[in-house]
Amino acid sequence: MQLNFIANERVPSSSGRTLPVLDPSDGQVFDELQRSNADDIDAAVRAAQAAWADGRGPWGRLSAAERGRLLMALSRKVAEHADELALLEQRDCGKPVKQAKADSAALVRYFEFYAGACDKLHGETIPYQEGYSVFTWREPHGVTGHIIPWNYPMQIFGRSVGGALAAGNACVVKPAEDACLSLIRVAQLAADVGFPAGAINIVTGYGHEVGDALARHPGIDHISFTGSPKVGTIIQQVAAERHCPVTLELGGKSPQIIFADADLDAAVPVIINAIVQNAGQTCSAGSRVLIERGIYEPLLDRLGRAFSALRVGPASMDLDVGPLIRQSQQQRVWDFLSDAQVAGIPMVAQGSIVDQAPDTGFYQAPTLLRDVPVMHRLAQEEVFGPVLAAMSFEGEDEAVALANATHFGLVAGIWTENGARQLRMAKRVKSGQVFINNYGAGGGVELPFGGVKSSGYGREKGFEALYGFTTLKTVAIKHG
Ligand code: NAD
Repeated sequence: MQLNFIANERVPSSSGRTLPVLDPSDGQVFDELQRSNADDIDAAVRAAQAAWADGRGPWGRLSAAERGRLLMALSRKVAEHADELALLEQRDCGKPVKQAKADSAALVRYFEFYAGACDKLHGETIPYQEGYSVFTWREPHGVTGHIIPWNYPMQIFGRSVGGALAAGNACVVKPAEDACLSLIRVAQLAADVGFPAGAINIVTGYGHEVGDALARHPGIDHISFTGSPKVGTIIQQVAAERHCPVTLELGGKSPQIIFADADLDAAVPVIINAIVQNAGQTCSAGSRVLIERGIYEPLLDRLGRAFSALRVGPASMDLDVGPLIRQSQQQRVWDFLSDAQVAGIPMVAQGSIVDQAPDTGFYQAPTLLRDVPVMHRLAQEEVFGPVLAAMSFEGEDEAVALANATHFGLVAGIWTENGARQLRMAKRVKSGQVFINNYGAGGGVELPFGGVKSSGYGREKGFEALYGFTTLKTVAIKHG
C-alpha cells in the first residue's frame, strides 16, 4: 500500500479511500495508492509553508550552497537506488527495462545539474541615476505546486521539482494517478539524505480532485503543470483567478523534416526511436515525418522495413516497445487508426506483438502511415501511441508550411547536410527546440525545454528553468 508523503512522514489520505495500481503489461492490480482530497493538499501546503516560512524555515533558511549539497546527496542516493527506481517505473508505466533505466539515470543527472546550479543564480546591479545604487534579488516563489503526468514521472519530477528546489522553493507534488510509485520512493530518499520536513511533499489521487485542489490552493505560489493541453487550459483558468504564475508543458505533434541530401543511415534509427520510445507516449514524440519528394518512396521503404522488425511485449522482456499505459489509451490509438482506415490513409507497415504478451495487457503494434492529409486529425492531434504519419514536400517553403501547420510547437528535427539550409529552417520552424541531424540530443538536462503555441509556455530543464522558479525583486537605494 502506497501512502502520501507529507513533512517527511508516510501518511494515509484523510479520505480513507484508495486507488488500484495496474501493471500495463498484464492489466492486473498489484498495489494501491491514496485517493487524496483537498484536506490532504492543505496539509501538504502547510508542511511546505512551514519548511519555507518566508526564508526562515528549516528549508527556506538554507544557503544556496547548502541546498546544492543536499541536491547532490540526493543525486548520489538516487544513483545507488537507480535499479530499484527503474523497476518501479517499469512495472508502473510498462516501460521496457532499458527505457526505465534511462529514466532513473536522467533523474540522477537532473539532481546533479541542479545541485551545481543553486549557487550560480544571482541578481544584477543596474546603473541608474547619480546618488542611487540599484540591484536585483532572485527570490524563490515560496511554495511551488507540481502536477506531473504518467509518461515520464522520474524525468519530469527531476526537471520540475529539481529546478524548483534549486531555486529555494518548497514543493507540493501531485503525480499522475496512473504512475507515481517511483516519486513516492524518491521523496523518501530525499528525507533519508537530510531534506528538511516539508521541502518535498507528495499527494496522490485523481486530477479533478486532488490536482484541482492543488491548483486552487491559495498557499501555492507557482504551478508547474506538465500534461495535456485540455487540462493545461483548466489549470491556467483556475490559476488566473488568483493571478498565480504558471508554467505549462503541454503536448506536441513534432515534425522530423528529411531533405533529399540527408544522411539516411543516421536518420532512420533516430526517426524510429523518436516515435516508438515509451510506445509513442512522449510529448516530444517525432510523430510526423516530412520527406522531400525525391526520396519519399525509398525512405518509406526503409522505414517500413524497420517498422516491420519492431517487437512489442511486456516491459520485463525489454523489447523495442512496451504496452500503452491503460486500456483507454489503447482505445484512443485504435480510434485514430480506424479513422485512418475510413479516410483511406495507406498503412506502410506494422511491427508485431510477441506471443508471450498477455491478452490482458495494453499492447499496440507500431504503425507507419503514408500520404496523411495535412488537415487530417492524424497530422494534427497527438495520438500518444506508436503511430508515425508520413507526408511528402518539395523544397523549403513547403517543408516549413507543413511543419508549422498544427496548433503545436514543441520540438522539430531537421535533416540536411546543407549548412545554410539548416539555419534557415531552424529559424522558420515554430517550436521550442530544434534539432539538426539528431533528435532530442539524448534528453540533455542542460537544454531549456518548452513549447510555443498550444505546446505551452515557460521553460524547464537547463539553467533557464531557474528564472521561472524565482521572482525578481528590484532594490533601489538613494544614498546621495
Ligand atoms: P493529463 O493532462 O490528463 O494529466 C496530467 C496531470 O494532470 C495528471 O497528474 C492528472 O491527474 C492531472 N489532472 C487531470 N485533470 C486535472 C484537473 N482538472 N486539475 C488539476 N490536475 C489535473 O495528461 P496525461 O494524460 O497524464 O499526460 C499526457 C499529456 O501530457 C500529453 O498531452 C503529453 O504531450 C503531455 N506531456 C507534455 C510534456 C512536456 O514537457 N511538454 C511532457 C510529458 C507529457
